[in-house]
Amino acid sequence: MARKLVIGNWKLNGSFAFNQALLNDLARRWPVHPNLDMVVCPPFPFLAQAFTQLAGSAVLLGSQDVSDHSSGAYTGEVSAGMLTEFGVRYAIVGHSERRARFHESDGLIAGKAAAALAAGIVPIVCIGETLVEHDAGHTLAVLQRQLSAVMERLPSTLLSRVALAYEPLWAIGSGKSAEPATVQKVHSFLRGVLAQVDLASAADVPILYGGSVKASNAAEYAAQRDVDGVLVGGASLKAQEFLDIGAGFLPR
Ligand code: PEP
Repeated sequence: MARKLVIGNWKLNGSFAFNQALLNDLARRWPVHPNLDMVVCPPFPFLAQAFTQLAGSAVLLGSQDVSDHSSGAYTGEVSAGMLTEFGVRYAIVGHSERRARFHESDGLIAGKAAAALAAGIVPIVCIGETLVEHDAGHTLAVLQRQLSAVMERLPSTLLSRVALAYEPLWAIGSGKSAEPATVQKVHSFLRGVLAQVDLASAADVPILYGGSVKASNAAEYAAQRDVDGVLVGGASLKAQEFLDIGAGFLPR
């Protein structure tokens, strides 16, 4: 069975003072749960602060990106090996904002996922359709193409160490979340695509939903069989809201 994950993507937000209050609250109030990880992904400069503040707590650290290279002449990049020195356990790769604004290709995203895996970091591979693709009824075809393009480049033996995030672009930051029942259908389809790569591992891959998740709708997603967690942007910047989202994924 897949591990449950609640991931907070802070995007380009935060400051020492803001982070200190948020991290303290989360670290103090989120207890250890055996099969559920709460993860925060601050901007790179704040990883050291978060590493220190979260030490000894049940809240884990993730990064918003990772280089596909381990060292060398790659100005501005941060390697997976460096991230592990700050206790990073998860890395978001292929977020739609990076695909669109920084022109990241499926090949590059696969390289980033492979680099994370090689360092023992779980890559959270993001895929999702645009509003135009959604309205044209092309959602599943787009997702299959994005997922296969990444999976084909990773050894199938590593499949169970990857997490997947379905993030429809029209739902990110829009306040317009996807219907939980529709998300279930999409996730079940994705699990089927993963099963074609490795049947035994497909059930172990956490498949997360992302797109305007809030405390008020988290439990509806958690109730879906193939929704193993959520990737949360805006709502992860408020401690109470993020804790309530996490609580929605606790066993009932
Ligand atoms: C995201 O940043 O991936 C995201 C889903 O953002 P939001 O929760 O704000 O829609």
